[in-house]
Amino acid sequence: MRIYVACLASYNNGVLYGRWIDASSDVDEMQEQVNAMLRESKFPNVMVTCPECEGAGKPYGFGDSVCEACGGKGKVPSAEEWAIHDYEDMPSTFGEYSGLQAIADYAEFVDQIETTTGLDGEAAQDLAKAMLENWHDVKGAQDALDRFVTVCDTFRDYSDELAEDQLYCAPEFLQQYFDYEAFARDLKMEYTVLDLPDGQEAIFYA
Ligand SMILES: [Zn+2]
Repeated sequence: MRIYVACLASYNNGVLYGRWIDASSDVDEMQEQVNAMLRESKFPNVMVTCPECEGAGKPYGFGDSVCEACGGKGKVPSAEEWAIHDYEDMPSTFGEYSGLQAIADYAEFVDQIETTTGLDGEAAQDLAKAMLENWHDVKGAQDALDRFVTVCDTFRDYSDELAEDQLYCAPEFLQQYFDYEAFARDLKMEYTVLDLPDGQEAIFYA
């Protein structure tokens, strides 16, 4: 999962400049990469604290020597404004100005899905997207994860299995009267069922 962060000063000057960064649950880690991208912009419009000497103007512990990155000023030029211009393996519904916290929350949510469901990679991301569509925000989807039951080919497979677990001790002549279809139809009302892109269905207690 990655986001493409673009420098808006460059963009406004007709230059496409930016960087793909990995979506992470760590906001600071992503912000550092955004800041590094902005400092390398050809269209700086602000001065920011030098990352090499952290504003001191000289390398730590080197007496009177001067920081090479900022020439001893403690500040370096940087572009300021940025936006997210593309998403990879993430819902594009986040938009341009959702902010890194929203990205971090989503990355954490996908981690939680992997832990809770045992799905990983693309399957976990597909479920995350489907849940976000249904529950609209990460917080709501996270709450719903507590009610996750299973992923299976169809809800009917799940309801048949549930019925068979209950019926196995009933006499066979009674079992043949059991209406699996009606059972599935009524049972489904007690669940939230989401369609996944691979054709499977994710089942949650409603
Ligand atoms: Zn410096």
